[in-house]
Amino acid sequence: MIDFHCHIDLFDDPRAVADRLRRDRIYTLSVTTTPKAFLGTQRIAEGCPRIRTALGLHPQLAHQRRSELDLFRLLLPQARYVGEIGLDASPEFKNYLDDQLFVFQAILKLCSEAGGRVMSIHSRGAASIVLENLRMFPSSGLPVLHWFSGTHTELRQAISIGAWFSVGPAMLKSKKGVELIRRMPADRVLTETDAPFAATRGRNVDHSDLDDAVSQLAQIWGYRPLEAEKKLLSNLRSISSYADTCMAK
Ligand code: MN
Repeated sequence: MIDFHCHIDLFDDPRAVADRLRRDRIYTLSVTTTPKAFLGTQRIAEGCPRIRTALGLHPQLAHQRRSELDLFRLLLPQARYVGEIGLDASPEFKNYLDDQLFVFQAILKLCSEAGGRVMSIHSRGAASIVLENLRMFPSSGLPVLHWFSGTHTELRQAISIGAWFSVGPAMLKSKKGVELIRRMPADRVLTETDAPFAATRGRNVDHSDLDDAVSQLAQIWGYRPLEAEKKLLSNLRSISSYADTCMAK
């Protein structure tokens, strides 16, 4: 099982979540929302070989945390994965787009200079502008668009620049989400929960929902659930060897 976008540090009891992920052998990308949270979040995952911690600066915090870009730069050499980063043009945050762009572009530039990174990217209401920026920084690495909610045209553009996608239970419950997933190349898809934020059926998504997510993906792809699980694990292996190559540069 794979959770390629989870906020372990934002649960009430992060240690208990990490223990559960270890016990259930779930390969996890533990994303962070500020550079200051990186080292502490990495510590939570000590002794959990399947958890990787990503260095992030969330677009919804960009206007308050842009001073942490210096820390981001210092920590980047030890971070194999980057996220959560990106842009958010939803009504609540579009007034801060200038700060968000400043932070996002600074990070893409730092990733380019560092040899590229696998990046977990938020693009709510901002898919086109996120893609435009990724095109401006082609050496920044491999973008994984998390919970992508753009148009079919934007999806085609994302596919054409080589983007990957992480999709979760909430997206698989929506008709629009499923229509997007159908159009994604199966060899560039990973599962995620976005826990503890995402909700479905009136309750928070958690790791027990990943089984269902895999079955639904299997249905979409016309595979048996076990084949879908194998496909996802082989996708994870390719993305993790990409991350190794970046670090070796
Ligand atoms: Mn998130």
